[in-house]
Amino acid sequence: MSERLRQTFRTDHRVAFPVSGTGSSGMEAMVANLVAPGDRVLCGVHGLFGQRMADELGRRGAEVVRVEGEWGRAIPTEQLLDAAKEPFDALFVVHAETSTGVAQPLDGLADACRAHDALLLVDCVTSLGGHRLEIDAWGIDAAFSGTQKCLNVPPGLAPFTVGPRAAAKAESVDCPSWYFDLSLVLGYWSGTGGRAYHHTAPINLIYGLHEGLEDVLEEGVEARWARHATAHAALLRAVRALGLERIAPEGEHLNPLLAVRIPEGIDDAAVRGALLTEDGIEISGGVGKFAGQAWRIGVMGFGANPAPQRRLIEALAPRLGHDPAEAISELEAGWAVAPA
Ligand SMILES: *Cc1c(COP(=O)(O)O)cnc(C)c1O
Repeated sequence: MSERLRQTFRTDHRVAFPVSGTGSSGMEAMVANLVAPGDRVLCGVHGLFGQRMADELGRRGAEVVRVEGEWGRAIPTEQLLDAAKEPFDALFVVHAETSTGVAQPLDGLADACRAHDALLLVDCVTSLGGHRLEIDAWGIDAAFSGTQKCLNVPPGLAPFTVGPRAAAKAESVDCPSWYFDLSLVLGYWSGTGGRAYHHTAPINLIYGLHEGLEDVLEEGVEARWARHATAHAALLRAVRALGLERIAPEGEHLNPLLAVRIPEGIDDAAVRGALLTEDGIEISGGVGKFAGQAWRIGVMGFGANPAPQRRLIEALAPRLGHDPAEAISELEAGWAVAPA
């Protein structure tokens, strides 16, 4: 399990295991073990999940410095580096903002963190296995993910990895959570200490994740990123033929999630409701600042394939007053393009 996770995370970190609980439990584990009360933590906020982390860090008693970006855009790297000029203990960013469909570039952040002996902490719930993510090459000290996004596995586990700098920090932090205490959990996971019982691992989910990671490695991590990129580009061509526009600009977009503006005069709830009840297809509405303004279409895991996308377009087109033919031919043309 750990080796499969390392390959998917692209890391040599010794610590790579799934925390018991959904993606959010990975966030709890990260903050409880790697942030101490009073730590100065820079927190990128450009969507719902950045907001959530700022909330979580505040609950932990950290001094939270919010680095606010526009919703639907990446936070300019300059802005993060600017905030990193004063001493700090950790920088947290959401790599894949599922609330807006934006991928946050992480280049240069690790150097800024090391200059202050601070940790680079990342939420990669919607990028692991779906969008280029290089834990080691980008110098990420700790990251958490989820299983039900790009890994195509039932929800309930949070893949988690911690590098040596973060592990050293964890030793100095008094973890307030018994359940998420890394040293206790690792005593169970790693076999050290005779695999001491800590909690009952949800083995049904662990089997599921094991299998899901096998699928990732069989396909190849990079090939999987490429498939998600092709699926995103093809679906974008198709929805443009239906008069929809993506919110994120090219280059800042997150392949596993296509967020589009709801056109004037279209009833958000009616369209999504009909897709769900009549066609058995779920697309998500906007959240936070985008409530009522955006549709968020998953392009993850099995969904990042021609057949489910075709079903979506065929069901969506008439509800937007379009004949699906042109959009379907755009979809097909998009899939015919060799990945960049
Ligand atoms: C889904 C998601 C989470 C939370 O994961 P759960 O499995 O719902 O607890 C956290 N961060 C991001 C970016 C997500 O997309």
